[in-house]
Amino acid sequence: MKKWQAGLLILTLLIVVSGLYVLVQLRSLEVERLSDDLFVLRGLGGNTAVLRTQAGAVVVDTMTLPMQGELIREQARKLTGMETILLINTHYHIDHTHGNPGFKPGTRVLSTERTLSHLHALDAEFWSGQAASLLPTETFSDRMTLKIGGKTIELIHPGAGHTDGDLVVLFTDEGVLHTGDLMFNRYYPNIDLEAGGSVQQWVPTLEKLLRLDFTRVIPGHGETTDRAGLRQFLAVIAQLAEVGRLAADKGMSLEQTLDTELLTADKGYRRIRMIVPMPMDREFVITRAWQESTDNFKRLD
Ligand SMILES: [Zn+2]
Repeated sequence: MKKWQAGLLILTLLIVVSGLYVLVQLRSLEVERLSDDLFVLRGLGGNTAVLRTQAGAVVVDTMTLPMQGELIREQARKLTGMETILLINTHYHIDHTHGNPGFKPGTRVLSTERTLSHLHALDAEFWSGQAASLLPTETFSDRMTLKIGGKTIELIHPGAGHTDGDLVVLFTDEGVLHTGDLMFNRYYPNIDLEAGGSVQQWVPTLEKLLRLDFTRVIPGHGETTDRAGLRQFLAVIAQLAEVGRLAADKGMSLEQTLDTELLTADKGYRRIRMIVPMPMDREFVITRAWQESTDNFKRLD
């Protein structure tokens, strides 16, 4: 075998093995039980929550592919003994919504008004045809209280941050807050300025969350944590906001800004693993803070 042939063979094997790895990952869901009635499902995509109520299962976020949505639906049925009667989407990103079509058409789906408008404006191709029947069927702007099958669930849009339309889910009876992507636990966050996200506004948004009554936190990505974990994430965002403000005040270039020593709370933070590789690292978050503060980006809708 010639050298280039051996090289090609190794490359092909690598592609096949990594493809198989992704397939296995897509078909596997890790289950964590937080209480008698509340579960977290983890797979490729954002964290999913499943709540058992006497009326049926409530599912928060549906990961990245319709196939994963089907798996979530099956798993929810196994864990709760009930069909899913309500889906909640924390925001419009594909890794939290594209599993929706794996659920039964006609299922009640809730999101904020902003999220529904982003789905239409920024992801219209996916949400056409059959998938359109799993778009949000009900929306709200600031806050909504749900009484469902003996449980109380608060849906709150606390302000801009990751996008301008994120909601958090407060499982009142369990004392658990699902933050969606308003919190990443020990991972660098995506900051979607183009969809109204904001490093500056993310700080008061997180402060608002800390005034809610809960003990445990399901972040959009990463391990389940608590109030201290949420405060730690706030420390990173607050430092980033400071980096952005300083850059604007002093007229610093991006290169100068990237040299900052103000961002220290991100120690131990990692890049997140996605189906489509996203370069979300230290340089990315500082760049976004700089872009926002110096107005070097363009809103998409
Ligand atoms: Zn997101």
